[in-house]
Amino acid sequence: MKTDDADSPMLAQYRRIKKEHQGDVLFFRLGDFYEMFAEDALEVSALLNLTLTRRNDLPMCGVPYHAARSYIARLLKCGKKIAICEQVGEAAKGKTLIEREVIEVISPGTTVDEEYLDRGSANYLACLFGAEQALAFAYIDLSTGEFCAASFPWKDADSRLRQELERLDIKEIVVAEALLREKTSIARALDERRGIVINRWADWLFDSERSAARLHRQFGNTFAAELGKLRLAPELTAAGALLSYLDEAAKSRIPHVRRLTLYSENELVWIDEASRRNLELLRNLQDGGFHFSLLETLDETKTAMGRRLLKRRVAHPLRDISKIEKRLNMVDVFYHGQKTLSSLRGILGGMPDFERLSSRIAMGRAHGKDMLSLKNALSSLEKCCQTLDEAQKTENRAYKTLQFESEDAISFNKTAFSCLMALKETLEKGICDEPSVLLTEGKLIRPGFNAELDALHELRDNGRALLEKYLEEERQKTGISNLKIRYNRLLGYYFEVAVNQLSKIPPYFIKRQGLVSGERFTTDRLAALESEINGASDKIVELEKNLFLALREEAKSLLGEMSAAANFIAELDTAQSLARAAAAGVWIRPTVDNLNRVKIIEGRHPVVEANLARGEFIPNDIILDARPEKTDAAAFALITGPNMAGKSTYLRQAALIMIMAQMGSFVPARTAEIGIADRIYCRVGASDNLARGESTFLTEMLETAAILNSATSRSLVIMDEVGRGTGTRDGLAIAQAVSEYLLNVIRCRALFATHYHELAALKHPRLVNRSLLVEESDGEIVFRRRLVEGAAAESYGIHVARLAGVPKEVLLRAEQLMLEAKCAEKPADIVVKQRKTPAKQPSAKDSPAAPSSSQGELFLDLQAD
Ligand code: ADP
Repeated sequence: MKTDDADSPMLAQYRRIKKEHQGDVLFFRLGDFYEMFAEDALEVSALLNLTLTRRNDLPMCGVPYHAARSYIARLLKCGKKIAICEQVGEAAKGKTLIEREVIEVISPGTTVDEEYLDRGSANYLACLFGAEQALAFAYIDLSTGEFCAASFPWKDADSRLRQELERLDIKEIVVAEALLREKTSIARALDERRGIVINRWADWLFDSERSAARLHRQFGNTFAAELGKLRLAPELTAAGALLSYLDEAAKSRIPHVRRLTLYSENELVWIDEASRRNLELLRNLQDGGFHFSLLETLDETKTAMGRRLLKRRVAHPLRDISKIEKRLNMVDVFYHGQKTLSSLRGILGGMPDFERLSSRIAMGRAHGKDMLSLKNALSSLEKCCQTLDEAQKTENRAYKTLQFESEDAISFNKTAFSCLMALKETLEKGICDEPSVLLTEGKLIRPGFNAELDALHELRDNGRALLEKYLEEERQKTGISNLKIRYNRLLGYYFEVAVNQLSKIPPYFIKRQGLVSGERFTTDRLAALESEINGASDKIVELEKNLFLALREEAKSLLGEMSAAANFIAELDTAQSLARAAAAGVWIRPTVDNLNRVKIIEGRHPVVEANLARGEFIPNDIILDARPEKTDAAAFALITGPNMAGKSTYLRQAALIMIMAQMGSFVPARTAEIGIADRIYCRVGASDNLARGESTFLTEMLETAAILNSATSRSLVIMDEVGRGTGTRDGLAIAQAVSEYLLNVIRCRALFATHYHELAALKHPRLVNRSLLVEESDGEIVFRRRLVEGAAAESYGIHVARLAGVPKEVLLRAEQLMLEAKCAEKPADIVVKQRKTPAKQPSAKDSPAAPSSSQGELFLDLQAD
């Protein structure tokens, strides 16, 4: 915005404030509106569809003050930070300009306001810092207190970062300036994510000593002991910097952040950004919505806490068998206890978001309705525990010994429960039925909770009755039967005595006014009553506020217990959701082990099946074995079949069943033996990545390179139509070379679908040809969607063309050309020699070089018959 000497004082004030909030949208309060000017006005009017006007040629738009929250919510969704500038105080004497200042900056990653948050999703703010040896990463959900950090070695920092941004759906990030300046690939990864707020932070703020001190302040001495061991870990610098950033941005203490979890990629299954999207774990590929995602099929949760946890589990499948088994055990208990399951679902359905409530309590932001919700959450908690107790007695199932996972949930014990029940009773007595969301208007505390407050209420509500009672007393005492209490603005309350009664006036009556018809008096008692009645309302507001704050403090003293209960409920809800989905989908409990094989009998695609009529989905087996000692077992299945045969569905179903098993869910199959995968890759279809300005084929090759450079023998690799994006010859050559690399170098479990039927000639002891059956009946092709051994006979392209109504003449010509081509072809049997070197071992440090062309030649031996 250009500066203009002719600015009004108000505009000059605006420009001054805006200068300090350059990256934010400035909501500038003008009377009943928040106005935006210049670039802000142009951007916001377009984003929110507001009318753009001009004032002295300066673009402006505005939103009414009372409706601002809904506009703010929409701007946050667009990845904007909003600075709220209010009128503070009155205009100074002799001047017309009201003082204004920014009282709050609302940003997508720091807000804890329920209205601005998505109930079922975590809300992450992250921090990035480039240390010498690694890229340090930390993230926090301020609305729940979840706080984690990790570091990524520079060699794969880029893809790890992209993976984390996608996995966590980061809303806002704080980045060291030097990192953005020096590492263009990191800057690019951030730029490409739409709707993420990027805060550049001076490099000196990322200092290990400073961060250590900040972390120490947050976590105290227990952490200091850990810190001693980890002093140089760069992720701690990022974590400490993140807390320091929050000190400034959130402007409130955050005692609910009680733990920092340091994680490494070895705990979770690595699923890169592209594979996550291709598998449609949380969102579909069409419009990015929840429909037709794996999450939708699994989601039978009843609480926001459960939904967030389920989402986290879908996004982070595990490698640790004992953890997976614990989760499966819990699902199993509910799966077999359908009666308890449905009672529990009924109770959880009424459970408010305990976790976010306790965060708001911790930050001193909980209002009256929040405290009422807390009370309701606590009574739902009580009912949950009663239901589990009851079920334990009647069903004799393992409800009492359910194995929880998070430290918080495990710590939810009898003592914590009793403390929370005591709090529930206090809240039942203390918080009124329809509390206000403000602290300044009373309507917070229930009658009967505090004697002083009750007296004040009586005074305010029964002022008239009190006056009448006092009047009656004075009538008795003085014997003046027609004594009256009256009120006017000048005198307030007064006694009025007629002329003929003046002789009966007692000495403590103080004369205020003489009239022809009589006289007006007051008494000390009447004056006191008057000021009590008038002051009662103010006192009520003050006292209710203090009582409310004391209740909030009492709740705050139980933050640990509340967090334990919230995690307990989240895990219960997630388990019941998976049990419910398993029952509805007729899924089974998988066996999970460390063998490098997978054997799924009659597996089904959970999402496709859920969207077809019952019984319409055709199940298929998925059998792969990459154990080195099983020298003849098929580790690599080449899947052929024409378009529409069901190849993509089959491939994805393999990856989804593995992910479901490793997240601790039952799976759609008759039986499933799952050997844990360390990484799951899914390269499906040739989708353009227009945002990155790369061609289809380049994207395809980038993703292929990423897989070949990082997969290990423990991975599951799924590739669909690799090489489709280029000409037939080089496409086929690339598809073959990639297959060979997977078979000879990586030696992992792989499913490779192709429409290059020539590839079916590949021979390797660990390769098997399978196809999706297509039959011809009366000149029509029928897709059986059944997997059979052996390659597909032909591609049926001409049949499909016929189905589509392509003219006969064209079809005949195409058939003739096919025949000619077939006669000209020399059938080739391709033998892939096996390599003698060991397979790539799963290791975090693993980063094999891309295959060199000489390697390719070495193992390729084309033998023409
Ligand atoms: P391809 O990858 O071979 O072109 P798709 O996997 O896209 O084929 O499947 C084509 C259609 O067939 C999809 O609409 C899908 O819903 C349906 N389909 C695939 N597999 C099955 C199955 N096993 N049972 C029933 N329908 C299926």
